[in-house]
Amino acid sequence: MVLDNLGSSLKSAIQKLANAGKIDKEIIDDVVKDIQRALIQADVNVKLVMKLSNRIKERALTEAPPAGMDSREHVLRIVYTELVNIIGKATPIALEPQTIMMVGLQGSGKTTTTAKLARFFSRKGLKPAVICADTYRPGAYDQLSQLCEKLGVMFYGERDNKDAVAIVRNGLKETQKYDVRIVDTAGRHALETELIKEMKDIWGLTNFTHRFLVLDAAIGQQASEQAKAFNDAVGITGVVITKLDGTAKGGGALSAVSDTNTSIAFIGVGETPDDLERFDPDGFISRLLGMGDLKALVEKANEVLSQKDVNVEKMMTGKFTLNDMYSQLEAINKMGPLKQIMSMLPLGGLGNIPDDAYRMTQDKMQGYRIIMDSMTEDEKDDPKLIGSSRIARIAMGSGRAPEDVRELLKYHKMMQKAMKGMKGGGQSNKNLKKIM
Ligand code: GDP
Repeated sequence: MVLDNLGSSLKSAIQKLANAGKIDKEIIDDVVKDIQRALIQADVNVKLVMKLSNRIKERALTEAPPAGMDSREHVLRIVYTELVNIIGKATPIALEPQTIMMVGLQGSGKTTTTAKLARFFSRKGLKPAVICADTYRPGAYDQLSQLCEKLGVMFYGERDNKDAVAIVRNGLKETQKYDVRIVDTAGRHALETELIKEMKDIWGLTNFTHRFLVLDAAIGQQASEQAKAFNDAVGITGVVITKLDGTAKGGGALSAVSDTNTSIAFIGVGETPDDLERFDPDGFISRLLGMGDLKALVEKANEVLSQKDVNVEKMMTGKFTLNDMYSQLEAINKMGPLKQIMSMLPLGGLGNIPDDAYRMTQDKMQGYRIIMDSMTEDEKDDPKLIGSSRIARIAMGSGRAPEDVRELLKYHKMMQKAMKGMKGGGQSNKNLKKIM
């Protein structure tokens, strides 16, 4: 999994938040400290960590939770959105003709990524061509030409020419008919003046749409220095972080992106040409936190909770009518398969519902509706009024069996009990432990 260690330490920080008896300054400080430790251990630079933790603290302590959301879930969301914020938006990539210059140190995965990118664009219906300007690493020419041959991608290279600038000049001329032209430049073992000069000279040959910096996820703190040097030379438009399939710490590369004010365009997640993913900040953080489709959940929950008919506050303060129960069942129904994540987050109290509620079929809901239609308003408001003679009347009126009416009433009692138990919030925490 991507950034395993960082993921698990962030997860335990968040678990602490979820398990806390109450959400106050002390617990927020504590959790923020854990998050700081997790990020620093993963090589994220201290400045960035401080920026992030100050933001989380400031927001968690000053912003009031929106209606229908408790403070625990509110803080959890702040942590999540701030993590998404520091890694920024993905570099926009237009699916149109363009030229791309790949830069980075030797071994970063530049050549592999060049082939992966050619594959990416050809799958999108564009015709790519690759120009090999890596005259420094002996195997680069053969590696790239073979990869291109396998992928059926146009390759331009001059095996015996050591003049990278001349090769790119010729290559750009030869590949004019192609939609996306990707230049794989030479890396070095370290940043050297010669390397930077070569990058600048190639950069000057044409108006490159993108200059992608390839960074190995394992690079650590020196990532920022590299990124700055390449950025000064050619103006990086996007970063590709490679080898995220390993157990690399990754934080160095993430910091470099933030330090140079660029963004991540793609991530490399394996050695084959298909192992390249468009970077998606939300998906990345969700995956890191092991939260699956948290973003979808949060949106869904907001949508449901914003409906006027789900009056969570009212339900939690005691009175729980049959209509309340019905609305809540409808809301839960809309959550559908998100139940698992749902039970992890004490979202406005909806996270603590008997399992049955999630399995309620449309037919069953319809049956309840019909039975409720045969009740008086008083009965719906206070189902305790309904004794056996009323049950018989309601059953007759709705064309249902008395057992069906009893079942509905029993169900109501169960939900009411769950609602009361939830006021303390303890049950939701139990659910949370189960998942994480
Ligand atoms: P270059 O010197 O920057 O051109 O580096 P290469 O493209 O030759 O890559 C160096 C090594 O990293 C090769 O063994 C690649 O197969 C490997 N590599 C590149 N990208 C990835 C990736 O995303 N995941 C994994 N696991 N290996 C990668």
